Amino acid sequence: MDARTIPNGATLEFDVCIIGSGPAGLAAASVFIGKSLRVGILEAGGETEARDELGQTTADAHMADVEFISQIQRVGGNAHAWTVRVPGEAQMARFGRFYGSDLDARPGLGLEEPWPISDAELEHYHTRCAKFWEIPLPPEETPEAGAVKLGPDLGTTFFQFVNARTLLDKVRRQIAEASNIELVTYAQAQSFAFEGTSQAVTAVKVVSEPGRAFTVKAGQYIVAANCISSTRLLQNSVTPQGHEPGNASDLLGRFFMDHPLIDGGVLTPSSPAVFDRMRAFDIHRRDGGWAMAHFRIARETLARENLPDMSCILLPQRKARMLADKVTSPRQEKGHRAALDIRDALMKREGLKAGDFVTAAMGVDHVIKKGLRKLMDPQPNLGSGGWSLDPRPERRFDCFQVLNITEQPPRHDNRIYLTNETDSNGMRRCGFAWKLHDEDLLAIGRSQKVFRETVNASGLGTMETAQVNGRPVVLASAIGHHLGTTRMNRDARRGVVDENCCVHGTGNLYVAAGSVFPSGGYINPTFTICAFGMRIADHILAKRAA
Ligand SMILES: Cc1cc2nc3c(=O)[nH]c(=O)nc-3n(C[C@H](O)[C@H](O)[C@H](O)COP(=O)(O)OP(=O)(O)OC[C@H]3O[C@@H](n4cnc5c(N)ncnc54)[C@H](O)[C@@H]3O)c2cc1C
Repeated sequence: MDARTIPNGATLEFDVCIIGSGPAGLAAASVFIGKSLRVGILEAGGETEARDELGQTTADAHMADVEFISQIQRVGGNAHAWTVRVPGEAQMARFGRFYGSDLDARPGLGLEEPWPISDAELEHYHTRCAKFWEIPLPPEETPEAGAVKLGPDLGTTFFQFVNARTLLDKVRRQIAEASNIELVTYAQAQSFAFEGTSQAVTAVKVVSEPGRAFTVKAGQYIVAANCISSTRLLQNSVTPQGHEPGNASDLLGRFFMDHPLIDGGVLTPSSPAVFDRMRAFDIHRRDGGWAMAHFRIARETLARENLPDMSCILLPQRKARMLADKVTSPRQEKGHRAALDIRDALMKREGLKAGDFVTAAMGVDHVIKKGLRKLMDPQPNLGSGGWSLDPRPERRFDCFQVLNITEQPPRHDNRIYLTNETDSNGMRRCGFAWKLHDEDLLAIGRSQKVFRETVNASGLGTMETAQVNGRPVVLASAIGHHLGTTRMNRDARRGVVDENCCVHGTGNLYVAAGSVFPSGGYINPTFTICAFGMRIADHILAKRAA
């Protein structure tokens, strides 16, 4: 149903109202297919038309090198941004599951308590979620052939790759055929209304276009609108007690996290045969799907040394080429920055500055040379695989580029908040304050040291970690994995949602988003986010049956 056909002031009624039709909302909805309750899914965007402007943060909000955050607002959500290239397939997503180690307390990193869910329960939902995505359950760790185990501090584990769009389209079709589920597009949920004395939600106000609003009443509400937009919706609502839902302790919006990408330096192998031994570190066929090995730090080591969890990804390269790509003079650096400013202004549909064109043109030679090298001589990178298909990779490569995707410790002052700027439907936009603290950088450096020392002692080769002023080199502060801000804790004084992801004090308002994660791990989060969506749906069904 297109919400723009719903009369102004109308009321729709459902048993369950899901807000957002991205992976989390669709995973939750899939549990309700064929059940004896009526489910409405509200989606801010269209079936094919994206209304990204509705999900943008304020123009001045930036996180270090990330100038602004935009969300894809249409059915399928940010799954439309997934572009990992696997030989012969397109639009793959990198998946993994949060490990038991990611649920542990690590007081030195701002995580005083473990997650309020057991390893075994999370495992159960990961298994369910693997069926949903039609992949084998991502293995926690394997000492099998092809993978390399280096000692008690390091293990080898795998990312998996999923043709997620195809699967989401399938779920979308199943939902279209289900007589008990209605998808309402162009329906932006803006604020909740609450019952007079308790904090139970009675209705949600929905806007379809400027000046046209209607109400949805439901028994249960699942907010599956992504980390930032879910938090924004709660922040835009006020309970009869005079605060935002779940925000009695001023925690709503706090502990915002992403997965910084860190330059892990270079691994020079001890012999050409190492390339052959490391083939599993390429995207390759495994158990009927696609997988890619990487090193990770053992659970005991992370807990004992209070370390952020981190992946160690190895991409074969030629050293000379890596250096050529890196070299930039201050002039070229300024030109590159100006080119990025032009790109961001175009994306934000803002006015372009003539000065930026001049600076970009003056520094454009490096960008062009780098682009040409990329075109003529593509090297393995994070977004595409295939190098291990070469029968003699040692003829093409002489080293491995090391990349670390890292956990960012949760910090109280990293937060998103409502501003007075509004989107075209009149809903207030979010701004955010975010930085990597110096002690976090030092902790990241300690995790890198575990990789370096273990690899160097193993005979595999020599790993040299990139550093500037004794600090790790951050290649990208954020890679679009937004986590935290409605943190899960049994105690309302220490979290926004409880262990069932129900907003504290409400009883019928749930959050299915990465925002509930108390810590961020390093794994691409969507698989675990969907597992939580399915768990919430199960919880609602069990409550109804009781
Ligand atoms: C470039 C990029 C690459 C990525 N690659 C990967 C990857 O390889 N692997 C991985 O695991 N993760 C990846 N991610 C992260 C991944 O996309 C998210 O974790 C995932 O999309 C979260 O799913 P979601 O359903 O919670 O949110 P979303 O996918 O953002 O879906 C939320 C939906 O809610 C709708 N919505 C928002 N607000 C409202 C409202 N007020 N009312 C109604 N509807 C609303 C939106 O329109 C959207 O459709 C990537 C992200 C980016 C940006």
